[in-house]
Order: sequence, then structure tokens, then C-alpha cells
Amino acid sequence: RAKWRAVVEILKELEEACDTPVGRLRQVVDAMAVEMHAGLASEGGSKLKMLLTFVHHLPNGTEKGTYYALHLGGTYFRILRVHLGGERSYLDVQDVERHPIPSHLMDSTSEVLFNFLAFSMERFIEKEGKESNSQGVKRELAFTFSFPVKHSSISSGVLIKWTKGFEISEMVGKDVAECLQGAMNRRGLDIHVAALVNDTVGALSLGYYHDPDTVVAVVFGTGSNACYLERTDAIIKSQGLLTTSGSMVVNMEWGNFWSSHLPRTSYDIDLDAESSNPNDMGFEKMIAGLYLGDIVRRVIRHMSQVSDIFGPTSSMLSEPYVLRTNSVSAMHEDDTPELQQVARILKDLGVSDVPLKVRKLVVKICDVVTRRAGRLAAAGIAGILKKVGRDGSGGITSGRSRSEMRMQKRTVVAVEGGLYMNYTMFREYMEEALVEILGEEVSQYVVVKAMEDGSSIGSALLVASLQS
Ligand code: ADP
Repeated sequence: RAKWRAVVEILKELEEACDTPVGRLRQVVDAMAVEMHAGLASEGGSKLKMLLTFVHHLPNGTEKGTYYALHLGGTYFRILRVHLGGERSYLDVQDVERHPIPSHLMDSTSEVLFNFLAFSMERFIEKEGKESNSQGVKRELAFTFSFPVKHSSISSGVLIKWTKGFEISEMVGKDVAECLQGAMNRRGLDIHVAALVNDTVGALSLGYYHDPDTVVAVVFGTGSNACYLERTDAIIKSQGLLTTSGSMVVNMEWGNFWSSHLPRTSYDIDLDAESSNPNDMGFEKMIAGLYLGDIVRRVIRHMSQVSDIFGPTSSMLSEPYVLRTNSVSAMHEDDTPELQQVARILKDLGVSDVPLKVRKLVVKICDVVTRRAGRLAAAGIAGILKKVGRDGSGGITSGRSRSEMRMQKRTVVAVEGGLYMNYTMFREYMEEALVEILGEEVSQYVVVKAMEDGSSIGSALLVASLQS
């Protein structure tokens, strides 16, 4: 009994430490907006890098032709082809291929990584029917790259750092598009890497293509990030550099956001310390797919150490990342009467025959961790809306007229990523918290739209828009 009490105590502590009442979320909202300002004001002015993308125009639906996208995500890489007929309704997405990134590539060399991508592209093209691309025409490719890049143009930029467990250190500082183009050329492929696109920017492009009220895009997959359309004159750190248009898409790299208002637990601190990038990507480590499973694992392990409710402590529980977020959602959303999914997944972790009471406890842990993630994600989105004056408050910049402050524009937030698409409870917690933060009235003007494969499709559309 005393043991059970210890476990209940741990759960209670977890719940308290992960608590996200709306007042706290509003503090996170404010901190996000403030950090966005700081990151735009000067290079290194904030943990938010607020990276320039050199994307001034988003696809508007008039694009024509056939374009390709190759997307290196955190867990998957994808290749697809789109055919555009010059009207929105003529968007034909063809041959979407999705494969897990072989794990040995994540700590290999840049040459091995890019040779692999070029080889995959070659195979993709070999499978194409003759009709899909007339012979002799150079293929235009978007390289969707879900890592932080310092751009010097839309088609070039150097890797700032790896995230999400990638560790190819010699790649840092190299031009990412050039590396891919080089690998394509070595294989003799007649492919032009026409743009280097962050995955969030791809999602924004697809969102905008379908609906020009789209100004924000967020990805919740292995990692998490956001971008949005910013007025050029608000990007103070680049003044003088940008003259061509009134706005530019800014890649926030919000995974690295940090604020003392974020509800951090000892599990988060340990996860960070033992990760390949300690003291980095603090927000991402609380909200993204790579990490949620590992937070849950750490809680279960802690409980199994102070009690015998999980039987003898399984050594597997000490293995980082053995519990995937896919399994967390499967347990969380287990609707079998005896929680058989939970039993099965625990068994895979070396924990067998736990009573129903303990299975319910595990579901509760999943709920606490994912609820916090969803609610913090919502606060992040609301922070962007605040920065662009779409949260009903008129933004934190001064100089807006009163009538402007009252006028609420329809705003679409494009969202994508495996976590958001597949984990219903995460999505529901996020959407519920967004309404809580913004209030019912303002929420009516904010539309969250799911963009399946948005990053890749949208990047191809962006390349198309460059040609027209
Ligand atoms: P990437 O991040 O590699 O570009 P995705 O956007 O498809 O790829 O995201 C994949 C991640 O999404 C997985 O690593 C996992 O963390 C999360 N995910 C995928 N499916 C589920 C699911 N059913 N439940 C919870 N999380 C999921």
C-alpha cells in the first residue's frame, strides 16, 4: 500500500509540475511575442533565431508545370511530384513516397547522406512513366529541409546546427542545397535544386495556395517549428538588405524558444541533459514527437524504481527513446475495456501482467504529458498571432489605430506533421487551449487547417511560383 502511495505522490507531483492554467499560458504567449521581437531586432537577440527565408511571394494558384520535392524530415524522407494546371483545382499530387531515414545516416557523413538522397531521387525518377516528364527537360526540385539554415537566397543557405538527434558535425556551416546539387550531378541526374525550403515554409506555401488568409504555419512531427509572414520593415536586423517586397516569410525556429514560464519537470531536465543537444531546443523537447514518449518513459521508470507495481524494474525502461510517441498515443487512446493496448505496449517494454489499475495510471501519465504539450503548442501559436496583431489585442507594437485594433481579420494557421495528424488527443488539447487563450469571439476568426504532406507539396508549389 505504501508503495502505491509513493506512486500516487509521483503522479500528483507530475500533474502539478505540468499544470498549464490559462494564466500561465498567457505568460508564455507574451514571452513568445517578446522573443519574436527581440529575434527580429538583432542577430542573436533572442533564442528565437527568426531566420530570413528570402521567400517574398507565396504560390497563388496560377502556377503551371511539373515539379518535384525531396523532403528530409526528422524521421522520414519523402519524395513527390506535383503537376499544376494553372488553377488551384488542377493540383495533382503524384507518387508520394515516404520512407524512414535509415538511422545509420544520422551520424554518418554529409557525403553519405547526400549520396543516399540522390540515389533515392534517381530511383524515384526511374519509376516514372514516360508521360510524366518530357525527355530532356531539366527537372525542377524543391529541397525541403527540416533543420535550421542561414539563407543567403531562396536557393542557398548553410546549416546552422543539427537537431532531432542528427549528428553529422562536419556538415554544419556547409551549403545544404549545394551539397544536394553536387550529389545529383555526381549521379548524372539532370535535376536543378531550385529552392531550399524549411518544412514550415512548405506548409505555409500550400496553405496560402489554397487560402490567402494563411499567414502562419506550424509543424508538429519529430520536431516542432513555425514560420509566418512578416512585414519587411519589422525585420529590423535586415534593414537595407530587403527592398524587393513588403513582406517576407520568417522561419522562427521556435523549437529553441525558452521562457521561465514554461512548466518544466525534473524529467525534462534529465531528458535535456542526456540528449545529443543539451541546453538546446527546450520548447521542442516539451512538445514534439521525438520527446513525448521519452518523458512518459522517464516517469514510468521513476515509478518502477520506488515501487513494485510494475514488477521488477525492467532494464528496457532505462533505454532512451524505446517508448515511441506512437505508442504513447496508442495507449492514451486505447478504448478496449481492459486496456489491452496498454498491456501490449508495456509488455514490449519488459513490463508484463500489470493490473488494470496500473494500466490506467499509465494512461494518465500519457494524458498529463500530452495535455501539457498540446496546450503549450497553442500558446506558441497564440504568441505568433499576438505578434502579427491577429489575437484580438492589436499586437504589442505601438502605433496601431483604435479601429485597426478592433478589426479582426480572418487568419488561417496551416498545421502539419505526424504528431498533429495522428495523435487526436494532442490535436484536441491544442485546439481547446487556443480557444481558451484567444476567447470565443476572436477564435471564430482563427482557422486551424491540417495540411497533409503540406511541407513537401507546398515546397514544390513554391518552386513553381519562382518559375512563373
Ligand atoms: P518528420 O518529422 O520526420 O518530417 P512526420 O511529420 O511524419 O515526419 O512526423 C513523424 C513523427 O510524428 C513521428 O516521429 C512521431 O513522433 C509522430 N507520430 C507519428 N505518428 C504518430 C502517432 N500515431 N501518434 C503519435 N505521434 C505520432
